[in-house]
Amino acid sequence: MNKDPFVIKVNELLREVGGQMEVVFEGRPHFEEKPPELVGNLLVDLVITNTEQTLLVTGKISGRMFLKCGRCQKTYIQPFKLNIEEQFARREKIREIKGAGEFELKEHDFIFQINSNETIDLKELIRQNILMNLPIKPLCSLTCPRVDKNVRPAADPRFEELKKIKNKLKEKE
Ligand SMILES: [Zn+2]
Repeated sequence: MNKDPFVIKVNELLREVGGQMEVVFEGRPHFEEKPPELVGNLLVDLVITNTEQTLLVTGKISGRMFLKCGRCQKTYIQPFKLNIEEQFARREKIREIKGAGEFELKEHDFIFQINSNETIDLKELIRQNILMNLPIKPLCSLTCPRVDKNVRPAADPRFEELKKIKNKLKEKE
């Protein structure tokens, strides 16, 4: 009974074109490659639709993660909500779709693969969506105190080098 809730059995759905399946649960995914570290569980609220060509996964995933503030460098907890719209297809189908070029791919040209045992694994989809939605400038709070104003930034070593060169040139003059 150690079933991974992020691996979804789609065997029945695959045999029903136009069919839909709701996937709602809470869980903590174990990623193979690490995105930012999560705090607690993710809330997964998705619908999987068999569009004949692919399985379309839409819905929302929300959670919280640890990020480092770009201003004060403190680690803080950032809540997030991902709007999911992704597709899965069988390996042969992916080749067919890409080869034919008849099928319009949305947003990014990427289709996840349906596993040979007719399951789909949501973990990589979630990981990629988290990474795509990371804030460019993470901020711990709107009133982030910034770095202590009394602490002067350390001198840039490159400028120190320039100074030395300038001084040497002066000596020569
Ligand atoms: Zn901060």
